[in-house]
Amino acid sequence: MLRVGGLTPLSTTDWPGMLAAVVFCQGCPWRCGYCHNPGLIPARGDSEIPWEDVLAFLRRRQGLLDGVVFSGGEPTSQVGLADAMREVRALGFRIGLHTGGMYAKRLAEVLPWVDWVGMDVKAPFADYMLTTGVEGSGERAREGLRQLIASGVDYEIRTTVHPDLLPDQDLVDLGRDLAARGVRRYAIQAFRSQGCGNEDLCQRATRERPLREVGGELSGLFEKFAVRAA
Ligand code: SF4
Repeated sequence: MLRVGGLTPLSTTDWPGMLAAVVFCQGCPWRCGYCHNPGLIPARGDSEIPWEDVLAFLRRRQGLLDGVVFSGGEPTSQVGLADAMREVRALGFRIGLHTGGMYAKRLAEVLPWVDWVGMDVKAPFADYMLTTGVEGSGERAREGLRQLIASGVDYEIRTTVHPDLLPDQDLVDLGRDLAARGVRRYAIQAFRSQGCGNEDLCQRATRERPLREVGGELSGLFEKFAVRAA
């Protein structure tokens, strides 16, 4: 059974170009300061939605939605993810997945059920701990990214940029590294303070150089590249 901490009935932004419901999976092993869903980090939530209720909701939306995005928290932290995806696919929905890529083995297990992945790459892999607060997180994300690219499943790699956590030159270096690893679709998005519980990060989010300008150094490296400024 999947532990679900929240459900958005309709989103046009969580899977670009698709009308999707979003299932927010409970639990994440990382502790990113800029997390917008800190209530989803603990393994158990205060107001979980029974999986059967999620399925009942989706049955009522058959024919009205293109797909369902499994988001979080970290969906791949849960052993029930593959079964949940199979059930949703059997209802006729396409499957999207948001992940940090830290459970590469489970990611590989579920990818055959997935049509599209939005994977966060948070920083140069050697510096991951600065953002996630967890030692070894960069190696785990690097392996997740490798699995995703090797799978051939459609994806977008995204990086949230806070000027303190990811200075401009580190962002440019990261973009170059990702291109060299075979990433073809990449988006950088400015840190947003909504939902972030870290006052320090919220107050120190002012950029000296517009993100679009920094992005200009990367745009030629990818087939598809987007800058989502605040
Ligand atoms: S990986 Fe995502 S859900 Fe987990 S703490 Fe970081 S931002 Fe929050």
